[in-house]
Amino acid sequence: MKRVIRKVAVLGSGIMGSRIACHFANIGVQVLLLDMVPRELTEPEKEKGLSLESPQVRNRIVNEAFQSTLKNKPAALYHSDFADRITLGNFDDDLEKIKECDWVLEAIVERLDIKKQMFEKVEKYRKQGTIISSNTSGIPINLMLDGRSEDFQKHFLGTHFFNPPRYLKLLEIIPTPKTNQYITDFLMHYGDLFLGKTTVLCKDTPAFIANRVGIYAILKVVETMQKMDLNIDQVDKLTGPVIGRPKSATFRTSDVVGLDTLVKVANGLYENLPNDESRDTFKLPKVIGKLEENNWLGDKTGQGFYKKT
Ligand code: NAD
Repeated sequence: MKRVIRKVAVLGSGIMGSRIACHFANIGVQVLLLDMVPRELTEPEKEKGLSLESPQVRNRIVNEAFQSTLKNKPAALYHSDFADRITLGNFDDDLEKIKECDWVLEAIVERLDIKKQMFEKVEKYRKQGTIISSNTSGIPINLMLDGRSEDFQKHFLGTHFFNPPRYLKLLEIIPTPKTNQYITDFLMHYGDLFLGKTTVLCKDTPAFIANRVGIYAILKVVETMQKMDLNIDQVDKLTGPVIGRPKSATFRTSDVVGLDTLVKVANGLYENLPNDESRDTFKLPKVIGKLEENNWLGDKTGQGFYKKT
């Protein structure tokens, strides 16, 4: 059967979900973007008798929600009407609308228990044959299958986008032994041809490929920095554009990713690599734990290693 992606449900409108939604909408795909936060009308919108479905309200909400994505980017890089293809909603009222979607892409908080609860609900509403994927940075994909039906398991895999998904080319595709080969092949092609990505097939190993290497590199830099008594500016000068990275260096990248996500992936690697020689590198340096405790999570809270201006 020919498979077509006309509409995608993106679950979670945080850093990744909102940007992945924009990316799909920008290539002409309809998007249902859901989160736990109900969207609200402003007072002037209420006075005008507008509803959450009114195009101008949707545009305002989308623009507000995606300010960080759009900031510093020339508007011309997005189709002028991309926001019209995004329908917003919340999990309580709108999850059943995923039955209209050909692909349900989960991008909620990096916690296995919460993701599993979400997939249980997804199973209730999805139509048979719909692709379901997780954007997890490092939770083993096969652990999300518990209790799910055979049809769900056949259509389920990891699709790991990188931040920001509009610009970073890598898309890791992580099937489980239960995933239908046709679904894996389809997404590898779809990612390359339609999403403009370079897809890489990964085994379902801790943090897959890029984060296994990337988190190791960040934490190794922190370790070296402490040994050599360097400061953040010095390290970012040495690990940014001068070595060919377009903009971001070690600590800028950490702020963009979000320190809560970084911590969860590092902890996951530490737990899941008991016999690996690199394990100790994934032990979290105190400085990162301290920032997380203070809710200095990076760009998403306005302060991480850097204060967001
Ligand atoms: P985020 O914190 O920006 O967004 C998480 C979203 O999950 C929020 O919109 C929040 O409302 C929602 N959420 C929180 N608790 C929930 C609950 N109990 N039920 C349902 N939804 C809930 O996080 P993010 O950085 O967008 O990460 C989302 C996923 O993408 C994670 O699995 C993360 O590991 C992965 N990821 C992140 C990055 C990155 O650079 N930040 C890159 C690749 C993959």
